[in-house]
Amino acid sequence: MKAFTYVGLPARVVFGVGALAQLPAELDRLGAKRALLLSTPEQSDAVRRVAASLGDRAAGVYDKAAMHVPIEVAEDARRVARELQADVGITVGGGSTTGLGKAIALTSSLPILAVPTTYAGSEMTPIYGLTEGGMKKTGRDARVLPRTVIYDPSLTVSLSAALSAASGMNAIAHCVEAMYAQDANPIISLMAEEGIRALAASLPIIIRNPKDLEARSEALYGAWLAGISLGAAGMALHHKLCHTLGGTWNLPHAETHAIVLPHAARYNRDAAPEAMARIARALGAKDAPTGLYDLELKLGLKMKLADLGIKAADLVYAARIATEAPYPNPAAIDYAQVLELLQNAFAGRRPA
Ligand code: NAD
Repeated sequence: MKAFTYVGLPARVVFGVGALAQLPAELDRLGAKRALLLSTPEQSDAVRRVAASLGDRAAGVYDKAAMHVPIEVAEDARRVARELQADVGITVGGGSTTGLGKAIALTSSLPILAVPTTYAGSEMTPIYGLTEGGMKKTGRDARVLPRTVIYDPSLTVSLSAALSAASGMNAIAHCVEAMYAQDANPIISLMAEEGIRALAASLPIIIRNPKDLEARSEALYGAWLAGISLGAAGMALHHKLCHTLGGTWNLPHAETHAIVLPHAARYNRDAAPEAMARIARALGAKDAPTGLYDLELKLGLKMKLADLGIKAADLVYAARIATEAPYPNPAAIDYAQVLELLQNAFAGRRPA
């Protein structure tokens, strides 16, 4: 066995249908009396219901979280947290809302209690992102890691079938890259493989019946494992491409991950055979890249970058940015091959 380093990140996780009822007890554990609750405008009603259930322990609601955490929103939310003298931030939502909580914690060390409602996995990572002047900067800081996470699958039934499928593939992407990352280790690979298995088994059921709580539980469990994988192991070519496409062309986060993933896996297939065998096994497929592609077809996802609004002529620039300062990757990074990968993803070709 190869030598490795494993770091477990601290987090208290409360998981299960109805787990949100434990929110007051979890606030007690944190010694919190003045909660600032955060959400996007779309989830304002949901977060206000949670606030109402807390009575006067809810000091306020801030419902302007937005994708990629614009700095103006972060600064406004930090001001509100200061003015309310909040002693905890409760995030109710997907990666955008968790990201806003992290932005507040980054400058104030406000403890965060996360209640995730998508499969993005941000709640398990010390990674934050902030967007200023059209540029997204990311970093790692222990202060932004949520102290407590409440996973309640019943909060995910309102996530549409399309968003569930894309968000679930985003989570699978974290697992895939964690298995062949430069700092991959056998403990994280165990979680990543189980994460793929749980998501691949549950997502097809969810898109047929978004209210199936058993499948929703399985998917959220997989997303939790995927978040741990993302937080613990570095990411490679796939995440670099998605950050490039999301950052420069503002393509939707989860959908971009879903389209690029089979092609990034194909790029790395021969350079990471052990990881690919585990991914294929978790998918119940013969081959990892085509197994991922076929799962996405079954989920009814968009399969072409062309469908997300990027132009064929932009691919040359995207390939250049993605190869100029690449993340460590099992297969050597080659401009012409990365361009070919993007062209295949643009056209939605099966990565045979
Ligand atoms: P999102 O948080 O932007 O949510 C998408 C939309 O779905 C929003 O309108 C949201 O309000 C809505 N929504 C969320 N849950 C819902 C539910 N259960 N029912 C109905 N509507 C719901 O999307 P996301 O994909 O979860 O997060 C993407 C963002 O998270 C990106 O900015 C990405 O960079 C970031 N992210 C960060 C990390 C990290 O470790 N820092 C990890 C993953 C993603």
